[in-house]
Amino acid sequence: MSNDLGRATRELMHHRPGKKYTEVRDELLDWLDGREETPGEAVAIMTDPANEILCEDCGWTVGMVCPECSKGCGCETDCTGWRHREYMHPDDLA
Ligand SMILES: [Zn+2]
Ligand SMILES: [Zn+2]
Repeated sequence: MSNDLGRATRELMHHRPGKKYTEVRDELLDWLDGREETPGEAVAIMTDPANEILCEDCGWTVGMVCPECSKGCGCETDCTGWRHREYMHPDDLA
């Protein structure tokens, strides 16, 4: 487990230029908190381009982007693209 964590941390460091080992390890541990993925699986998910954050305001990832509006994220409320219905928080639909 600890070896796995060390390897995964170094892998993730390639994607976090300028960050210290301990910072990257903490980010990884935060991510893993309460999840069942191994450190290696976590890094694969965290570094998948589709899982990069697209918009900090609404938290949509690149994999969720809507091709039908200019913002392409959850901040666009007038777009009728199916992704907005799919990903909108139920409380926002009213
Ligand atoms: Zn849209
Ligand atoms: Zn947004």
